[in-house]
Order: sequence, then C-alpha cells, then structure tokens
Amino acid sequence: MNIVIVGGGTAGITTAARLRNSLDKSFEISVIEPSKYHYYQPYWTLNGAGIGTKEETRKLTKEVMPHQVSWIQDRCIKINPDKNEVECEKEGIIKYDILVVAPGIQINWDQIKGLKEAMGKDGVCSNYSYEYVDYTWKFLQELDHGSALFTFPNSPLKCGGAPQKIMYLVEDYLRKHGKRNNVEIEFTSPGQAIFGVEKYKKSLEKIIKERDIKTHFQINLERIDGINKKAFFRDLQTNQLIEKEYSFIHVVPPMSAPDFLINSKLLDETGWIDVDKHTFQHQKYQNVFSLGDVSNAPTAKTGAAIRKQAPVVAENIVKFINKRSDFNREYNGYTSCPIVTGYGQLILAEFDYDGKPCETFPFDQSKPRWSMYFLKAHILPLVYWHGMLKGRM
Ligand SMILES: Cc1cc2nc3c(=O)[nH]c(=O)nc-3n(C[C@H](O)[C@H](O)[C@H](O)COP(=O)(O)OP(=O)(O)OC[C@H]3O[C@@H](n4cnc5c(N)ncnc54)[C@H](O)[C@@H]3O)c2cc1C
Repeated sequence: MNIVIVGGGTAGITTAARLRNSLDKSFEISVIEPSKYHYYQPYWTLNGAGIGTKEETRKLTKEVMPHQVSWIQDRCIKINPDKNEVECEKEGIIKYDILVVAPGIQINWDQIKGLKEAMGKDGVCSNYSYEYVDYTWKFLQELDHGSALFTFPNSPLKCGGAPQKIMYLVEDYLRKHGKRNNVEIEFTSPGQAIFGVEKYKKSLEKIIKERDIKTHFQINLERIDGINKKAFFRDLQTNQLIEKEYSFIHVVPPMSAPDFLINSKLLDETGWIDVDKHTFQHQKYQNVFSLGDVSNAPTAKTGAAIRKQAPVVAENIVKFINKRSDFNREYNGYTSCPIVTGYGQLILAEFDYDGKPCETFPFDQSKPRWSMYFLKAHILPLVYWHGMLKGRM
C-alpha cells in the first residue's frame, strides 16, 4: 500500500514520522516536497526583532525526512482524487492508495498593490517570509521618527498573533533605545478586535493602552506607495480610502490555499480542504486526509495545532487501513498562540474550537511572563526539531 503526502512542512513531516512509526515496511510512504530546506517559521517573529539568525530556523529537508520515507523532490501541480492520482512537475503522475494533503498556505503578496516593488526598501518589511525577515530588523534599527504601521490581512492567516507580536517587540525596542517618543505606533486590521479570545484580548487591550499604541479596526490595506511612503486602506464601513504615511510598515498580506488545489474537488466553498474537523478525513474522498494550514478545520492555523492534529490523522489512517470505523475524534480545535509582548515577555494563549482557553500551566497564562518567553525562544524549537518532526511529541 502506498501513502503519498503532499508537502513536507510541519504537518507533512510530522505525519510521515508518525505513520512510519506505526506501520510496517510493507507500507510505502512518500513525501512530495520541492524545497531543499525545511523551516521553523515561528522563530521569524524573533528574528525580525534581532533575536537569533534566520539561518538557524532552517535545516536541509533531507535531514528532517524520517527514515524509510521517500522524498520526492518535486512540486505537485494537480490532484485528481477520482483517479487516486497526483501530478508533479517533473515526475508526472503518481498513484496513491491514501493521500495526505499538507502543502500549507499561500501568501498572496501581489494582492496588495505596490507591495512587491516596495518590499525591502524604505521601511517596508514582513516577517512572513524567510527571504524578507531580515528587513524587519534592519528597518527597526533605523527607525527614529514618524509612524510605524502594522497590518493584518482580510483572510485567514497562519499564526494570527504574528502581526501584533512584532509590534510589541518594536515598541519595546524603541522604548529601550530612547526613541519611543518620536514614533507613533499603530495596529490596523479589517477585524473588530485585537484578539478573538476574550481572556487574552483583555490583557492585550491593557498592554496597548499602557504602551500608547493606536488601533484602527475595520480597515483593510489595499495599496502601498513605496516611493512616497504612503499606505492606502479601505474603510470597510464607509468604503472610503484612507491614506496613512509611514516610516516603517510591517505588512501581512492576504493568504489562501495554494492555487494548484483550485480544481482538485477537494476544497469547500470557502476555498480550504474540506475535512471533518475532528478526524481530518476528507468529507467526500475517504482515502484523503488533510491537516495543517490548508485544511478547513475552523481553528487558528499554527504549528501548535498541528502537534495535536498529526497524531489523530496518523491514528485514523491506520484505522482506515484496518477497515475500522471507530476513528479518533478527540481533536477539539486546540491551538496555541505564543504572543510575544516584548523582549523577554510572552502571553501563552491556548484555546479550542469554542474559543475556550485550554491552558497547559497551572497559572494565569494571560499575564506576560518571562518563563513563557523562555519556552518559546529556547524550549519549543527543541520540541519541534527533536520531538514533533520525529513523531514523538
Ligand atoms: C512569522 C510566523 C510566525 C509564526 N509563529 C508561530 C508560533 O509562534 N507558533 C506556532 O505554532 N505557529 C506559528 N507559525 C505558523 C506555523 O509555522 C504554521 O502554521 C505551520 O508551519 C503550518 O504547517 P503546514 O505543514 O501546514 O505548512 P508549512 O509548514 O508551511 O509547509 C508546507 C510545505 O508544503 C510545501 N509545498 C507547497 N506547495 C507545494 C506543492 N505544490 N507541492 C508539494 N509541496 C508543496 C512547501 O514547500 C512547504 O514545505 C508562524 C508562522 C509565521 C510565518
């Protein structure tokens, strides 16, 4: 039997490792992944503020590929679930018995007019790419006056906290370097609040007030004029165009499922892979499973969510192989957003599908703590490389 996994990122490798640990060698497991490198993206937030180096966030894909899992270094361009086939750029058609779809999320940089041309010049930056993350740190060190803007997209995104995490780090940096009084800081978002879960929202609103950060909700970034350092937003209530000048702008563009899935018959009407939100089996194709950023499981898209999803997916695939219907349905939407609120401070938000906090530690996690920062900066990367990707944690 042949199991094919599309995407060798967080979800693909974790699932491959768990399947390899549970199935005997008669089951062939392959991962289709074009990239030479595998990235630990959560650290990019810290890199943007000058903590660590981006080179430390990547390893060669061949080093993270589990033993006795075949790596097909290729890009999937089409999936035909009616024929149990995927098509790749170089290898052509590959047949599968079971398919796991995990190609992550696509960042649509070109949906903000002028962004691509402006990126990396005159204060325009984003932590959402390995290629761009160093600009954030460069422009932060240069920032000494004017306005610093932080945007949030009008789409689902990976790590919904990351657009504001970098803002708190920038604010803290400016204060520590005696430049805060010369810089206005503003968070803009098409949404209506700084965070979706009441408990953490309250703490974040308090921080925003205490640190004199401005917020502007229900506006959406449409265009950047990099030459004149202006950003144009649409007011979602009045439809008016709002112009803001900036010295520094951290942009998070809209995101979607990757384009190659558009005609695959696997997406729901909102454009994400249509799975049962507890079992991750596809709603129409029983031999297809999907997890991670690309699935329509209605939780915040994070690596932490995948840590809890992957064991469920692997167990259910084994049950499917054994023709058992008692699938594991335990996944409750668990996700975690470690909101860095400054150098050495972090709120560890953990919650489920209902927005109910489900916290790991026996203290109030809505308070910024050094211990939780230490967890993010020093413990979680180890858990990732040595636990999750090995199918152990
Ligand atoms: C700035 C930032 C901060 C973050 N902070 C946190 C955090 O603090 N905590 C947390 O838990 N999460 C965080 N995340 C989110 C986390 O990194 C993602 O949710 C997670 O990596 C998603 O895993 P995935 O496997 O779905 O996608 P990815 O890990 O992105 O992997 C997708 C893989 O699919 C491959 N692929 C794409 N297209 C194709 C194709 N056509 N064919 C084959 N392969 C393909 C890609 O090359 C990639 O390797 C952060 C992300 C960013 C960008």
